[in-house]
Amino acid sequence: MRRSTRRGTTRRRALALLALVSVLPFIVTSCAEPEPIDRRIMLIGIDGMEWDLMEPLVDSGRLPTFARLLEEGTWGEVRSLDVLESPVIWTSIGTGKVPEKHGIRGVGEHGDGHEQMPVTRNVRRVKTVWEILGESGVSVGIIGWLATWPAVPVNGYLVSNYFVFGQPSEAERTSAITFPEGLADDLSRFHVKGADVPDSRAAEFTGGTIPRGGVAGTRFDALRGFIAADETIRHAGLHLATAMPVDFFSVYLRAVDSPCHMFWVDTFPESGPGATDESVELFGDVIPKYYEYMDAVLAEFLALADENTTVIVTSDHGFSGPEWTGSTYHVGIRMHDPTGVIMFAGKDIVVGGELADVSVLDITPTILALMGMPVADDMDGRVLTEAIDRSFLRANPVKMIDTYEDEDGDASGESDEEPIESPLDDEVREQLRSLGYIE
Ligand SMILES: [Zn+2]
Repeated sequence: MRRSTRRGTTRRRALALLALVSVLPFIVTSCAEPEPIDRRIMLIGIDGMEWDLMEPLVDSGRLPTFARLLEEGTWGEVRSLDVLESPVIWTSIGTGKVPEKHGIRGVGEHGDGHEQMPVTRNVRRVKTVWEILGESGVSVGIIGWLATWPAVPVNGYLVSNYFVFGQPSEAERTSAITFPEGLADDLSRFHVKGADVPDSRAAEFTGGTIPRGGVAGTRFDALRGFIAADETIRHAGLHLATAMPVDFFSVYLRAVDSPCHMFWVDTFPESGPGATDESVELFGDVIPKYYEYMDAVLAEFLALADENTTVIVTSDHGFSGPEWTGSTYHVGIRMHDPTGVIMFAGKDIVVGGELADVSVLDITPTILALMGMPVADDMDGRVLTEAIDRSFLRANPVKMIDTYEDEDGDASGESDEEPIESPLDDEVREQLRSLGYIE
């Protein structure tokens, strides 16, 4: 297995052009009612996956599940948006549209002189791929996707991104955490808080050491919080995938993004100030260990994919560490890299293919094509036909329609919706602050 370096751009452009030319015979225009084919799709979102970190780990055998996907599927770099804020990008992944159209423009918005308001689902003004599929009768299950609270009805179930946060008292409990509403109660047994993560579990990431107190103790507790969020989604997701099988299943894991923000300088001490011999010793392997953890979680989900399932694993952006401008050191969102990781495998996917020119905007059109559904002209991505078996494309040429938006839907311009307040806002803001996303 040979992965080309990320600098092979010229070859990539040439390949992209070839891909574009070779796809033309597969496109037809259709006015017929969209009719999905019999297929299952599993879309796994892993925030912040970076090739430069993954590649040596795959090569040294530390990520067997990712290695298997690379061998059995088609993969490549995925180009993110100009805005490297996760809720914006995940909404583009889930809609195939640029932020100017979908309306989610950042992690939060400033209210009138108030604290920053976390962005919420109502600000989005276009349909997601799971809403489009659901309207055509495909059963869907969505777990943890950013900017999906408050949950609205779907043709199946939806666990919004606020599910990972601790619920306040019964009385002031946030509503619409899930659809159906009652699902939140059923899933509450899977809710893990940072304090619930045993020291010994977190110490698997720190070479067995459990720091007490001080800066190291605080950072160790933050690590337990990261693990808690992913354990919550992992267990709720595995439960739902088993108990309520659907044709389009999607789960979002905060995953490697948070540990990369917090432990980057300990992993790469030369990249910025702050690392000490002690912190490097303690936390220097947290990021690789977290990739291993995600590899194991991925294996559990993939075990639930049958022969009729196409698997897509994607990140929203990569990671390049802190950024220096002159003598100023930037963390938070400026640590994100515009190039992430994407992999396709399973039913009707080319084995051993490499993708050359892929945008986060291409994921929704590609899912629609795999489902035999038309792609809309008002989407901004393309179908990644080079990842799909020729025989499937011959039998199911890519169809186009003008739009999936409702006639009275206004799919351009600024959203006139304000983010909705919730009793969880302080906790959400605290998380965004700890990653350096907001002041
Ligand atoms: Zn981040």
